[in-house]
Amino acid sequence: MNSQTSRLLVVDDNEMNRDMLARRLERKGYEIVAVDSARQLLQRVKDTPVDLVLLDIEMPEISGLDALKTLREAYSPIELPIIMVTAKNQSDDVVKALDLGANDYVTKPIDFAVALARIGTQLSHKRAQEALRESEERYALAARGANDGLWDWDLEANTVYFSPRWKTMLGYEDGEIQDKPEEWLSRIHDADRDRVKEEIAAHQKASTLHFESEHRVLHKDGTFRWMLSRGLAVHDASGKALRMAGWQTDVTEGKVSDPLTGLPNRLLFTDRLGRLIKHAKRRKDYQFSVLFLDLDGFKMINDSLGHLVGDQLLMGVATRLEKCLRATDTVARLGQGCIVARLGGDEFTILLDDLKDANDARQAADRLMKAVTAPFILDGKEVFTSVSIGIALSNSSYDEPEEILRDADTAMYRAKSLGKARYEIFDADMRASVMARLQLEMDLRRALERGEFSNFYQPIVSLATGEIVGFEALLRWEHPTRGQLSPQEFISVAEETGFIRELGWWNLREACRQMSEWRTKYDAYSDLTMSVNLSPKQFLQPNLLEDIQSLLLELGLPPTALKLELTESTVMGDPSSAIEMLEQIKAFGISLAIDDFGTGYSSLSYLHRFPLDTLKIDRSFISGMGDGKENGGAEIARTILPMASNLHLDVVAEGVETSEQVAMLKKLHCKYGQGYYFSKPLSADEAGLLLAEQPTW
Ligand code: C2E
Ligand code: MG
Ligand code: MG
Repeated sequence: MNSQTSRLLVVDDNEMNRDMLARRLERKGYEIVAVDSARQLLQRVKDTPVDLVLLDIEMPEISGLDALKTLREAYSPIELPIIMVTAKNQSDDVVKALDLGANDYVTKPIDFAVALARIGTQLSHKRAQEALRESEERYALAARGANDGLWDWDLEANTVYFSPRWKTMLGYEDGEIQDKPEEWLSRIHDADRDRVKEEIAAHQKASTLHFESEHRVLHKDGTFRWMLSRGLAVHDASGKALRMAGWQTDVTEGKVSDPLTGLPNRLLFTDRLGRLIKHAKRRKDYQFSVLFLDLDGFKMINDSLGHLVGDQLLMGVATRLEKCLRATDTVARLGQGCIVARLGGDEFTILLDDLKDANDARQAADRLMKAVTAPFILDGKEVFTSVSIGIALSNSSYDEPEEILRDADTAMYRAKSLGKARYEIFDADMRASVMARLQLEMDLRRALERGEFSNFYQPIVSLATGEIVGFEALLRWEHPTRGQLSPQEFISVAEETGFIRELGWWNLREACRQMSEWRTKYDAYSDLTMSVNLSPKQFLQPNLLEDIQSLLLELGLPPTALKLELTESTVMGDPSSAIEMLEQIKAFGISLAIDDFGTGYSSLSYLHRFPLDTLKIDRSFISGMGDGKENGGAEIARTILPMASNLHLDVVAEGVETSEQVAMLKKLHCKYGQGYYFSKPLSADEAGLLLAEQPTW
């Protein structure tokens, strides 16, 4: 027990009883002071602090009961616990003693184990109370500085003392709040109340060390304040909570503002939104809208200029958005309740209160976009940014803030995919297409495991000999409910989600496997090539070449059997590193083709810097050829072909559908053709059958 050793005062006129009890208690680690009369008792208690008194009821001169009465005038049962020692048949005295404020009693002859247990209980109760009082005093001190409000709940009487400060925190005068727990509990937000009650109960059952709870409490002005309430319970020996006391701190500020920009955060925003939704349900003519803003290219700014500049940009944007919204005419036209919040990252939301119609929202979006287009001077540099905005207009079908936020977010996504730096207003079709896209994303992930993909193969034909020189592998997806899907319907989604890496690798592997099978099976086609489309994401993978090398080794296929088709945008994104990558691939012996030529940058002067073998002229330029109506497309093919041959590039004409086109292409010395005129893309089995026939065109 050491410094915590409790000092017990044993009062008994019978020397033997007194000494025996004293010795046994001493052996249990208590410090004992023994006296033989009530008079001495009163004196000793005054002189030396005592933790507990064991008081014999029957004593000459001043009886135990009288001494008890005197002591209780000066000391409360908590300050000085008193256990009465009585004879077995003195139940009247016991009742009297308890009435007079004795904490407990033991009977003679003393059952030592029982006495020890009762002493222990009283002492631990007293210590808990002291600890509470101490901490309470500490809290009270802290409270004065930190503006906390105190509460002290007498659980037996079910009354709560709320300090005046506690009341003013909620906007009330001292007299306006009674000492009932309901004054607190009933003001707690509906969404928090049950949880708080559970937290209180848990601490009362001693399952938690401290009571600590964050919740919203209704202020007199009708708003909710976030309160942090902390406290401690005092338990009796049986573990029953007698009292619970603590303090509450207003943490609203920290809860509702974004530390970086000082703007309201998501919590406050959704809170406000929730109230407006309710309001809109009551008033049919009332309209508001939510704008969801996302900075365009923020990640790039953050990555290239550093997080500090990124943060400065966010702060700058926040200020401009707020200023723009506070511009007097905006506020006059819209309601007073417009707010800007930051949801996190580079996402901001704006609430436009009291709109006349959708036009108000459009105009606000226009202004907001303009406000951020002027350059920001950050770290001495001019930084440009723009925002994409999604707008959701209020309507009676919204019940939850999350729903309207989600729709504004969807519209923002649409704005991004339509080219950024613009706004879109949400409509139901948008929702449907987003859902369809999500569905497609989920289906895609499962499709690979379920073996729903296959490769189709389209022959590439030498125009001079009319023979098949190679195939292009084209993905097909046998969708369980939608039937066969062409790549146009899923490649872009696979690309955006990154799933293209797995899918593209499957396609490449399968195409190479198929080619090695055909090469060995058909002697006439031992030089056949396989063209495989490579997506930008695949092209950027660091291990691409190593992976292909080991695949070819495994299949015993020479690198010259493989041709990779890339689009212009894939290589033009980062030309210098693309050149390096392409040179490595080329050095290994794999051929390279530019696909869909003419639809992108189409700069031959630039393309000649890349180590390419083949140009595939997009079918849009072929389709106009040889139909008598010479158009611009055909003209382009005419100019491309001679230039390509100057650069020693082979040309494949895509989308060849007629014999006239074949004739024209031959005249222009185009080497290869691919298209429905020769064959549609075929399943692996059909393509095998075709090879067996050794057709010529
Ligand atoms: P692409 O690489 O330009 O492939 C040629 C597309 O033109 C194929 O469409 C083919 O079926 C179609 N086509 C061929 N001849 C004709 C013709 O005479 N007339 C017409 N109207 N069309 C013809 P498909 O199979 O739908 O593929 C579309 C695009 O999807 C491909 O264009 C390619 O960019 C991409 N793709 C296909 N498979 C893969 C793949 O495995 N990986 C990647 N990354 N992209 C692929
Ligand atoms: Mg292709
Ligand atoms: Mg193409």
